[in-house]
Amino acid sequence: MVMKEGGTPRDQFRPGYLIVSDFAKQHWCEMQLLYSLAPDIILMRAIPGEEVTIEESEEAKVVKSKGSDIHLERELEIQVPVEVVVETKEDKWAVRLINLQHAVQAFSRGQRLAREVPVFGCPFGGDIFVFGIIDELRYDPDKHEVEISELKTRRSFYPPRKGQQEKDRYQVSVYAQLFNELVTGSVSKDMVVSNLGLGLDVKLGSSVMEHVSGVPIDTDGEACSFGDLLGTVLTQVQSLCCISRSRLEYIHQDDKSEILVLNFDLDAASLKPVFLEQCRWWRGERATTGVEIEDCWKCDHCQFSPLCEWRDYMANKLTNSKAKKK
Ligand code: SF4
Repeated sequence: MVMKEGGTPRDQFRPGYLIVSDFAKQHWCEMQLLYSLAPDIILMRAIPGEEVTIEESEEAKVVKSKGSDIHLERELEIQVPVEVVVETKEDKWAVRLINLQHAVQAFSRGQRLAREVPVFGCPFGGDIFVFGIIDELRYDPDKHEVEISELKTRRSFYPPRKGQQEKDRYQVSVYAQLFNELVTGSVSKDMVVSNLGLGLDVKLGSSVMEHVSGVPIDTDGEACSFGDLLGTVLTQVQSLCCISRSRLEYIHQDDKSEILVLNFDLDAASLKPVFLEQCRWWRGERATTGVEIEDCWKCDHCQFSPLCEWRDYMANKLTNSKAKKK
């Protein structure tokens, strides 16, 4: 399968860290993920002079935009965003740590709900750093249980197909794994700074410092270091408990009516081999693959379908296998 020159997919497209939605998209179709990250690879397959459009449809753009509005609306129900000026990359990550800390503090004060909670780490002891934002965490202080909930908006009133549900369940499972590894102390200071190229001693900017709490201020009395904040938050998050329940909620993008709610079990043992196999692709250890024959319906909704190399490959494979049977 064609691979762009210039290093592994990780080097080319995600130097530093990956985001959880990268893995969810890869779970749907790795080939589609590659084409969306490097459109020039698929454009090379166009016949010279032929006009080709591989842009996302307007419909898809509207769905995404309405989905973002609904997520923001839900976030505003329980928290008010504030503007923070970030001066360094340590400041940017400090804001994420503070947002995680707010969720920890909310639960320790007896609140039951936190939204837009950042999580990060190298799942399953691997070498790929992943960042994501959990839609919603619900905490039951009586049972000391945490539930993860992910909201998906739809244009159709019909429930999503199994393949879509599987992709969404996978995404939630990766979020939960990241959260649980934070809670169990598997994420170290060194893991964070070495993967992200951050400095433990870098002082946080004044705007960020206005939102830091529970971290000793350095002897100069003005700011704390990124390392101090990181160490504090990594310790505080361990006071929580692991996610034990998971939930997916599909609602209609216009009237917000409920379409489907899925409660499902998390299974880290099943997630691990799939996730690590995906990581092999990011490290350039194997070729790109597309959907299996039984999932070919996905190609009918794919903007890259007319030029997709994998479709040709599968069509040839099918023809050859039919010819052998004759
Ligand atoms: Fe994947 Fe099918 Fe799209 Fe090709 S056409 S990128 S195999 S979904």
